[in-house]
Amino acid sequence: MALSGKCVCGAVSYAISADKHDFGACHCSMCRRWSGGVFFGMAVKPEEISFKGADNLTTYKSSEWAERAFCSKCGANMYYRVTAPGPYNGTYHMGAGTLDEYGDLEMTGQLYIDIKPKGYSFANKTKNMTQAEVEAMFSGS
Ligand SMILES: [Zn+2]
Ligand SMILES: [Zn+2]
Repeated sequence: MALSGKCVCGAVSYAISADKHDFGACHCSMCRRWSGGVFFGMAVKPEEISFKGADNLTTYKSSEWAERAFCSKCGANMYYRVTAPGPYNGTYHMGAGTLDEYGDLEMTGQLYIDIKPKGYSFANKTKNMTQAEVEAMFSGS
């Protein structure tokens, strides 16, 4: 299924050429604040996505290894992107909530599970990673 998405106002839209089947939730404090809840990210390689209206995106360098982008017109958060060198460099984590249709995408992973707020939990059976495991993965150590 071809996936496409857009921000709230439509100034930024995108199309994904590759088949995608899953996405993950991130419980880190930055994603919590940035998304206003839980961030659902879907990994997309740079060559698998094309944007329209990308000049409406503002990027914010949120850490040494990543940036986050939002629509300058409506404020919708669009993606988290790895900027650190290594195997994940350039990978977009598109906000799954910006998709036009979720289709049959399934939540298969949860990051920073050890610092998830206690007041909610997801019923999906997922591969969970702790803060230490996630940071080791992205730093390539
Ligand atoms: Zn917008
Ligand atoms: Zn996060």
